[in-house]
Amino acid sequence: MSKKNPKNKMLLSTVILTIILAIIIAVATYFAMQNNKNKEDKEIAYTDLIKEISYGNIEKIEMTVNSTSIKVKVKNNEEEKKSIVPNTQAFIELVQQKVAEGNEIELIQKPQNVWAKIPETLFSLFPTIIMIALFVMIFKMQGLGDKGEVYEETERKTKVSFNDVAGLEEEKDELIEIVDFLKQPEEYTKMGAKIPKGVLLYGKPGTGKTLIAKAIAGEANVPFISMSGSEFIEMFAGLGASRVRKLFDKARKLAPCIVFIDEIDAIGSRRTTNSGAESENNQTLNQLLVEMDGFSSEETIIVLAATNRPEMLDKALLRPGRFDRQVTIGSPDLKGREEILKIHAKEMKLADEVSFESIAEDTAGFTGAELANILNEAAILATKKKHEKITNQDIDEAVKKVTVGIEKHSRVISEKDKKLTAYHEAGHAVVSQFLPTQTDVKEVSIIPRGMAGGYTMYKSNEDKFYISKTEMEEKLIALLGGRAAEKIALNDISTGASNDLEVATQIARDMITVYGMNDRIGPISLKDNDSPTGMQMFGDNMEDYVGQEVKKMIDTAYNDAQTILKQNMDKLDKIAEVLIEKEKISEEEFKKFFA
Ligand code: ADP
Ligand code: ZN
Repeated sequence: MSKKNPKNKMLLSTVILTIILAIIIAVATYFAMQNNKNKEDKEIAYTDLIKEISYGNIEKIEMTVNSTSIKVKVKNNEEEKKSIVPNTQAFIELVQQKVAEGNEIELIQKPQNVWAKIPETLFSLFPTIIMIALFVMIFKMQGLGDKGEVYEETERKTKVSFNDVAGLEEEKDELIEIVDFLKQPEEYTKMGAKIPKGVLLYGKPGTGKTLIAKAIAGEANVPFISMSGSEFIEMFAGLGASRVRKLFDKARKLAPCIVFIDEIDAIGSRRTTNSGAESENNQTLNQLLVEMDGFSSEETIIVLAATNRPEMLDKALLRPGRFDRQVTIGSPDLKGREEILKIHAKEMKLADEVSFESIAEDTAGFTGAELANILNEAAILATKKKHEKITNQDIDEAVKKVTVGIEKHSRVISEKDKKLTAYHEAGHAVVSQFLPTQTDVKEVSIIPRGMAGGYTMYKSNEDKFYISKTEMEEKLIALLGGRAAEKIALNDISTGASNDLEVATQIARDMITVYGMNDRIGPISLKDNDSPTGMQMFGDNMEDYVGQEVKKMIDTAYNDAQTILKQNMDKLDKIAEVLIEKEKISEEEFKKFFA
């Protein structure tokens, strides 16, 4: 603290302000509680008040117009009491009736007193005042921060290299050019080539977009300046735009460098001119466009931006000279997953039995971030269980934890629920066994996990590009197998199938509106609901048709599931029985029922 560092000063003032605020809040809470306490002795509940009135114990009632709060005087009691009346008109009528019946109650109706309300109003405004004060402070501090060192953390050169990015071979090939531009821009400009300004990275969260952007900076040995689109969206008008300006001021000073904007859809979504939030958004986006158009190719700033919603982006962003290159970062394939696992397991102690290949086989569709997460969870589990090394069992458990949540052994389940869950899960498992396109059952369990009361796990699909119509139809049957089993075995249905129904309905809808797989509607895309190419252009009835067809598909699937189960009642009963007894059935045990 000896040096007069602006950062320290800011920290100190933040601490002091926080302490002052804490004291104010504590004092205010104390008074508020005091106030409540007093209220308690002096207050009389409405129901008690009615009773007292009918007993004839109330002498005087004082009411104020437009207020539900009243004062009453109880017989033989000096102190006046307060009460809250839910419906003043009804209350007045009630009192007047009592008076008519011969009770002596003095009913006073006073005009509204504006002045008396002031302290109360002030008190109720107190939290708002504090909030406003806080916002102003934060706002001021942000101003300070912008002049100071907000970007300190991110502008350092990163040590991430392409070696840390696994599986994305084609993507790396596409981006390695950028590294070269950054390393020797003169070579390109001498030749008359224009260095690209912006590259958009498309892909699901966790697929490694940030990682690859850092790796480009690392490979080129240039600074990496980053910000997230959601940070630009501020509650104060104009701040978003000014942040963009500052971000690029910084970049100009540090060029050659990489500017990375995560979640660019947060600022770069299509411009409209309606609400305040959107016009703020527009300002930020406009500023970004101005900045990107502004820097010359000699400055060698390359802007990388990431999004998982490319369809949301304003077309202006994609024009030449802006983000004119686009690279799609997909979910890793089998080999990619194996490599990602290897990279993240480098520092981990793994048992010899652990095979990356087999984990990769079980995790089709997982992103790099999810795979890294699985290994980390496995390491935590192994530590908890005091294993010497991470075992296959730890990894299996971690995969389940990441996909369905943790097992909740402590939850008490009634016998009835257990039976229901057992039949539901057995229903899924048995039905899918008879559907050629569906993968084998890996595990059936009625131990609650995460949000689910039980689950049926299937073996992972091999990586494939396309899903056929038959496969989707059979998926619907498997999804409805749970509900069908409840109906057949217990002659009742439960809420347990809600998620199955949600997924099934969505699949059926997509089959019709996105993949054009419905005969009545034909090979038409109805995906873009808001645009003129959506359902409307096909007339008023299109939505009805889609609804009818979704229903037809689901009904058919539900009937098919019931048919399969009725033909295999013996197996359904047996599997449900074993589940009730043992709570879990493995792949091998399950297969034996069908041997
Ligand atoms: P995104 O920016 O696409 O949301 P990130 O780059 O932030 O994803 O990825 C999160 C984490 O997941 C990374 O820090 C890294 O640990 C891991 N990861 C993701 N993809 C890969 C990959 N291809 N190779 C190695 N690790 C990866
Ligand atoms: Zn289910």
